[in-house]
Amino acid sequence: MCLNWGCIPSKALISTAHLYEKAASASEIGIVVDQIRLEPNQLQDWKEKDRQEAHRRRAHPLEGVHVDIVEGAGKVVAADAVEVTKKDGSKERLQATKGVVVATGSETIEIPGFPFDGKSIIGAKEAVSLRQIPKRLVVIGGGVIGSSSAWSIRNSAAP
Ligand SMILES: Cc1cc2nc3c(=O)[nH]c(=O)nc-3n(C[C@H](O)[C@H](O)[C@H](O)COP(=O)(O)OP(=O)(O)OC[C@H]3O[C@@H](n4cnc5c(N)ncnc54)[C@H](O)[C@@H]3O)c2cc1C
Repeated sequence: MCLNWGCIPSKALISTAHLYEKAASASEIGIVVDQIRLEPNQLQDWKEKDRQEAHRRRAHPLEGVHVDIVEGAGKVVAADAVEVTKKDGSKERLQATKGVVVATGSETIEIPGFPFDGKSIIGAKEAVSLRQIPKRLVVIGGGVIGSSSAWSIRNSAAP
């Protein structure tokens, strides 16, 4: 999540918002930027390129430390065994000697009465991928993620 929808994309958007604000107020120090405006599509394309580049540069943190990496969807099938369904549909059963660590992250929850529709009711994942900046928005959930998503959108929308 961090690389795809969380820390990296949100910070990329926030940094551009800071740059926008600086440019917009630079006339105070004698730098006049005429006709400043935001192109959300271009911003998203750049953010996507930045994310892919971060992916490319990132060495897998577990490589070279005697860890086998098996990619796919894992299902705990016994207290000491996981079955992995791989991209090609094949399955592999992994046997643990001690136990299984489940580290599957989290998903945005739907608040009763506010089902996600991909348009007017969205989660944080979609919020950092908007190609149209909403004029007004309500954030449900004022934690770090809600605040940082709102902050990136609010600043992108700065006049
Ligand atoms: C907008 C936003 C901004 C954020 N900004 C920051 C920040 O600035 N700094 C910060 O520290 N944190 C930030 N976070 C939080 C951070 O992204 C998460 O805390 C972190 O990614 C959690 O890591 P994780 O390994 O627990 O889960 P995840 O990163 O979600 O990883 C879990 C992995 O498990 C995989 N998975 C799920 N189910 C299965 C299955 N059955 N089989 C196999 N694999 C499975 C998922 O595909 C995923 O790859 C932000 C999050 C958001 C949404």
